Order: sequence, then structure tokens, then C-alpha cells
Amino acid sequence: MAQLTVYKGDITTLAADAIVNAANTSLLGGGGVDGAIHRAAGPELLDACRKLNGCKTGEAKITPGFLLPAGYVIHAVGPVWRGGNNDEALLLANAYRNSLQIAVSHSIKTIAFPNISTGVYNYPKENAATVAIKTVKDFCESQPGMISEVFFACFDAENYNIYVNLLQ
Ligand code: ADP
Repeated sequence: MAQLTVYKGDITTLAADAIVNAANTSLLGGGGVDGAIHRAAGPELLDACRKLNGCKTGEAKITPGFLLPAGYVIHAVGPVWRGGNNDEALLLANAYRNSLQIAVSHSIKTIAFPNISTGVYNYPKENAATVAIKTVKDFCESQPGMISEVFFACFDAENYNIYVNLLQ
């Protein structure tokens, strides 16, 4: 089983094989963690993203990490929370699972996720964490030995406390 590690702080500092970006469907940059990743990776990241022609909600695409310590960025698009009856949980799980599938196909062993959709997309944090952890655990059990460590990078104290409680 892969090790699941809660990390408190800025995902851009993590020297994992890949970090995941909570991107939007345009893949052309935004605020929050997306803005932080583009600032830290440098302008080549936006050039690479322009060639990807966007990304649907629940899907993910990969680029190099450029100036980041991480080798790759996996750009995943989580759902906007619209009350919970619009496939939000399914789409959030897809974003995590598709990111892990891309990671495996690039021989990525260590991967860091932000708390996808819990910023401006307004997904309730505890619900999002439950989906994220279950999806990651299920994936790692279904493909044993492929991913060695998954970091949950929690930028805000609320998410950090939720993850520590759910994973202990
Ligand atoms: P979304 O649009 O998917 O909600 P946001 O970037 O607005 O994406 O927020 C997703 C999560 O990323 C939030 O929990 C926010 O606290 C967190 N976040 C913001 N900046 C960073 C960062 N530099 N590293 C890790 N997480 C971050």
C-alpha cells in the first residue's frame, strides 16, 4: 500500500515526482493553487498548457514541471460545487483517479495533491477530503506497487486538520 502523508503548506515546494494542479477547464491559469504553481514553474508552463486545448471537468493532463522541484505537473479539473446533486462527488473522484492513472503511465511514484475544488470552487472541505482519501486508497489498492507515496498538501489549517483526523 502506498504511504499517505499529510503535508501542511505550499505544494509548489514539494519535490515529489509530480504535483497536481487544481486547474480550470481552460488550463490557461487562474488564482489559488493554480496561480502559485504557474508563478513557481515559470512562463514555460503556460506555453505548455496552451498546447493542451483545455481539459474537461474530472479529467487531467500532464506537463513538465519546468522550474518546480517536481518533475511534472498534472493539471486536474475538479467540479464547481453546485449543491451536491450535480455529480460533484463523481467528478471529484474522477479528477483524483485520472491524475493517478496519468501518473502511473509516466512511471511517477510520488505525487502531491492539493485539496481540489475546496477553494473558489466551494466544495465542502470535509466531504471533499473523504472523496479524495477514498479514491486514492481504492486506486492504490487496485494497482499495487505503482504509486509509493501520496502527499495531501493542505494549505489552510481547516483542511490540514480534516486530513489529519481522517487519516489517523
Ligand atoms: P479550486 O478552484 O479547485 O477550488 P483553489 O486553488 O481555489 O482551487 O483552491 C484549492 C485548494 O488549494 C484550497 O484548499 C486552497 O487553500 C489551496 N491552495 C491555495 N494555494 C495553495 C498552494 N500554494 N499550495 C497548496 N494548496 C494551495
